[in-house]
Amino acid sequence: MSRKVCQHCHFPSNVCLCDVLKPVTSRSAVWVLQHPSETDHGKNSARLLPLMLDKAQIVVGETSADFAGLQAQIQAQGLAPVLVYPAEAGEAVFTPAANAPEPENRLLILLDGTWRKALKMYHLNPWLHTLPKLALSPEKPSAYRIRKAHRADSLSTLEAAAEALMLLEPQLDVSALFEAFDAMVSRRLAAMPEAVRQRYLRDESNS
Ligand SMILES: [Zn+2]
Repeated sequence: MSRKVCQHCHFPSNVCLCDVLKPVTSRSAVWVLQHPSETDHGKNSARLLPLMLDKAQIVVGETSADFAGLQAQIQAQGLAPVLVYPAEAGEAVFTPAANAPEPENRLLILLDGTWRKALKMYHLNPWLHTLPKLALSPEKPSAYRIRKAHRADSLSTLEAAAEALMLLEPQLDVSALFEAFDAMVSRRLAAMPEAVRQRYLRDESNS
């Protein structure tokens, strides 16, 4: 039995998100380095990013060789990459230089995978280790997330991208990104059979 898939957003038709996909025009480019195990994942939030951000793209791979093309592109275009990565205890959060102009060629790089897979990707890609890091603390969600009374667990890739853009481009309204994420979560839950939904919510609250 094949499920019908929306031709635009590529989510199953019963959870189509096209009506909440609004364009967000950032100055920074956003590149998602996606672990191959995420590509067919029904709750993958990263794939919403290129549908809303004109400078976003997803590149599937795991090793440094997989991303050799990207590394060449960063060099050739003179991009200023920043790695968005979870903060470790005591680690300094990236602070944009106070007086220096913001580079127009800023590139945010995010790793998309489970915590374990993302960590593996980080170790397999030494070129990432030298990049400036923007550390996000999921324990300290932005004012927007507090208003939405969201649970304070780890950030999805889409939320991490939105949080990073809020920090680097304070003028940019990223609320459409959070709204699309919330719609994705609530529509998936609504489309689940009751027994599956209960189990899912129980697992989520325990994880
Ligand atoms: Zn759709």
